[in-house]
Amino acid sequence: MILELTAVTRRFGEVTAVDELTLGIEAGEFVTLLGPSGCGKTTALRLIAGFESPDEGSIHFRGREVSSETPQKRGFGMVFQNYALFPHLNVFENVAFGLKSRGRPRDQIAERVRSSLARVDLAGYQDRAVQALSGGQQQRVALARALAIEPPLLLLDEPLSNLDQALRVQTRTELRRLVKELEMTALFVTHDQEEAFDLSDRIAVMRAGRLCQIGTPADLYQAPADRFVAGFMGRANFVPAALLPGRDEPGDLLIRPEELEFTGEADAQLSGVVRDRRFRGPLTLYRIEVGALDLEVAHRGPGPRVGEPAWLRPRPDADLPAFPPIQE
Ligand code: ATP
Repeated sequence: MILELTAVTRRFGEVTAVDELTLGIEAGEFVTLLGPSGCGKTTALRLIAGFESPDEGSIHFRGREVSSETPQKRGFGMVFQNYALFPHLNVFENVAFGLKSRGRPRDQIAERVRSSLARVDLAGYQDRAVQALSGGQQQRVALARALAIEPPLLLLDEPLSNLDQALRVQTRTELRRLVKELEMTALFVTHDQEEAFDLSDRIAVMRAGRLCQIGTPADLYQAPADRFVAGFMGRANFVPAALLPGRDEPGDLLIRPEELEFTGEADAQLSGVVRDRRFRGPLTLYRIEVGALDLEVAHRGPGPRVGEPAWLRPRPDADLPAFPPIQE
């Protein structure tokens, strides 16, 4: 483990922003902290960077305790949501900033700035004022500035959230490629599940300051530890087990929309009415009313129309996680 958090807690008055967070990251891994607004992701990242100190617990980097070291001493690269570029400095000076403050020689600075800008596809932009750049370009300058110091750990706090959808998808592909190419270790914060899926070797899902589950995107999608993780990792239908033959334990089965298929009336395990149908390119998303349930079905090819009856069953090979009933 290159980074280890052990039972790290940070409180602000009554609020426990991070609650006994234990987390280990391997060298070269791309890990994402994922969770809803206010779950403590930013605080966790700030604790690792050194902008906050834990009330309890410890943070180790390469086996050394860093919990009380300054951010400068830790030397991690950081990219924030609002970029925090220096508006009075040009692109070159922004990217050179960390190198200058580390007292690197001039020719090394020039070379590093050049190569960092080339990596983010901004070769030739050195003399531009940062205000003369688009949001996406400013974002890439911020990334180049973090990369220039070749940090042992790159910390990214929703760095793509100000970009439009197309640019966000493109930039995250480049970001992952860069991190892997440079053999860096990265910790990324987002509330966007799709972004987390695209970027991460492993995802840590947080809720109310606590870690719910950590695993590969496939682990979390296919075998979520609880209903919250299940619901946060894409679309989820919870079907009371009593509705399905052969499984008579109480509780709910998690059936993803792509694991439900239309069938003839004779083979149906669930029957209902099509209430809505949305075209999504390769798939069409259906909303089927089955008694008191509203089920989502992802279907390829022709299917029933709105208002028509629909007969459904889980795909025969589907492995359906079951959850105990919700305690009221
Ligand atoms: P978002 O996605 O909205 O940025 P987050 O998951 O990053 O949220 P944090 O910013 O870490 O969450 O905040 C966690 C909790 O701690 C929230 O309830 C927040 O209001 C509280 N909090 C964070 N920083 C402070 C602070 N400096 N003073 C008081 N409360 C704080």
